[in-house]
Amino acid sequence: MYSKNKINSFVKQAPILKEIIALKPVVWLNPNNKLKVEMPTFSIKKGDMEAAAKLWERFAPFFVKAFPETAGNNGILESPLTEIHNMKELLNQESTKIQGRLFLKCDNALPIAGSIKARGGFFEVLHYAEELAINAGILSRGDDYGIFTSDKFKQFFSKYKIGVGSTGNLGLSIGIISAQLGFQAIVYVSADAKTWKKDLLRSKGVKVVEFTGDFSEAILAGRQKTNADPMAYFVDDENSNELFLGYTVGALRLAKQLEEANIRVDADNPLFVYSPCGVGGSPGGTAFGLKQIYGDDVHCFYVEPTHSPAVLTGLVTGEMSNISVHDIGIDNKTEADGLAVGRPSNFATNISNHIVSGIYTIEDNRLFTLLAQLMDSEKIFLEPSATAGLIGPQMVAQIDYAAKHKINMENATHIVWATGGDLVPKEERKLFYNRGTDNLIN
Ligand SMILES: *Cc1c(COP(=O)(O)O)cnc(C)c1O
Repeated sequence: MYSKNKINSFVKQAPILKEIIALKPVVWLNPNNKLKVEMPTFSIKKGDMEAAAKLWERFAPFFVKAFPETAGNNGILESPLTEIHNMKELLNQESTKIQGRLFLKCDNALPIAGSIKARGGFFEVLHYAEELAINAGILSRGDDYGIFTSDKFKQFFSKYKIGVGSTGNLGLSIGIISAQLGFQAIVYVSADAKTWKKDLLRSKGVKVVEFTGDFSEAILAGRQKTNADPMAYFVDDENSNELFLGYTVGALRLAKQLEEANIRVDADNPLFVYSPCGVGGSPGGTAFGLKQIYGDDVHCFYVEPTHSPAVLTGLVTGEMSNISVHDIGIDNKTEADGLAVGRPSNFATNISNHIVSGIYTIEDNRLFTLLAQLMDSEKIFLEPSATAGLIGPQMVAQIDYAAKHKINMENATHIVWATGGDLVPKEERKLFYNRGTDNLIN
C-alpha cells in the first residue's frame, strides 16, 4: 500500500482515481489514444500477427487428430459471431437505447478450452513445441503436423516441463494442451481458483500447486520455480509476447467473419469492441490486431471488476505494471475468474496505453444479472467474467464518446467479446444463474 501522500498526488493528477478507490463503477477515456494520429512503433508488428496465423494453420492437422471435435472446422479453432437481438431489447428496456447492431463474439464456445485462453495460451505452447522440435531436427515447417500426436514426439516433449501461474482459465488451457503434447505441465494456482478447475487439470495428468495468496503470488512462485529448472519453460502472463500474439489472431478471424456477414467497417460504419480484462493480454492482443486492420474506425474498450481494476490503475496513474490495485487500497476480490488480477501485464499495458479507447468497471452483482439475462433471452451461457462487455454500448454512451469524436452511431457495430463459459460444470452454472435471477427479483 502506498502512502496517503503518494495516493493523493495520483488523485490530483487523475481525479477519477478517487472514484476507482471508492469502488464506484467508472468510465475512463484514454487521453493517450489520439485518433487520427500515426500509431507509434510497437515491438510487435502486423507481420508478426500474420506469422502467428500461419502457425495455427500448420497445427491444424494436429488438432484434427488430437481433438476430433475440431475436425468439422478443419482443425482451426474458432468461435461464432452471433447477433443478440433479444438481449439488446432487454438492455434497451433498462437504460439508454443502444444505437447500431449488437453482436456476441462467442469465445465461450472455443473448442477444447472453452475460453479465450484457447487463443493465447494454446498459441504460446504450440510456438514453444514447434521451436523445440525444429531445433532438435525432428520437424520442418513443411511437415504434416499430425506428427505431433506420435509417440516419438510425445516422448521427446516428456523431457520438458511447462509451468504457468493462473487463477484458473489460463492454467486450464496450458495444462490441457501441454499434457496432450506430452509435456510435464505444472500449474501454480492462486487461492481463488475453483475446485472443479483444479480437479479437471489433475484428471489430465497436470500437476497443480496451490497457493494461499492471489494471482501475483502464484505467478511469482511459479516463475521462480520454473526458471530455476533448465528443462522448464514458464508461460508468463505478466509479460508474454507469445500470449499476446496468439490473441491478435482473433482480430484477423473476426475481420473475416464481419466480411462474410457483409458488415462494413469504415468511418461511417464504426466498430466498437468490449473486452473483459484481467492482465490485459487478451483484450490488448485483440485491440492491437483490430487496430492494425481498421485503424481509427475501431474503438476498443476494456472492462474490469470494480475490485480488480488493474490495467485501469496502471494507465490512469501512468505507473503501468509498476502499480498494483493493492497499492491504492483495493482488495482484488472478485468472483470473475480470469479478471481477479491486481497487477497488469507489463508487455500488454505499454501497448494498450496507445490503442485502448477507454476502460469501464463493473460490479460483480451486475455480472451475474447479465449472465441470467443472456441465458433467458438468448439461451447462451457465459461465465460471469465473460458477460462484462454486455453493458459496454450503454456505458460508453453515458460519457458522450461518440459526440466527442464526431462519430455517427447509427451504423455502429458493437461486439461484446464473450471470453469463456463452456467448461463450467452444470452445478456451477445453476448457482451462477440463480444468483443472477435473485438479483433481478430483489
Ligand atoms: C483470462 C480471461 C480474461 C482476461 O484476459 P487477460 O489476458 O488476463 O486480460 C477474460 N475473461 C476470461 C473468461 C478469461 O479467462
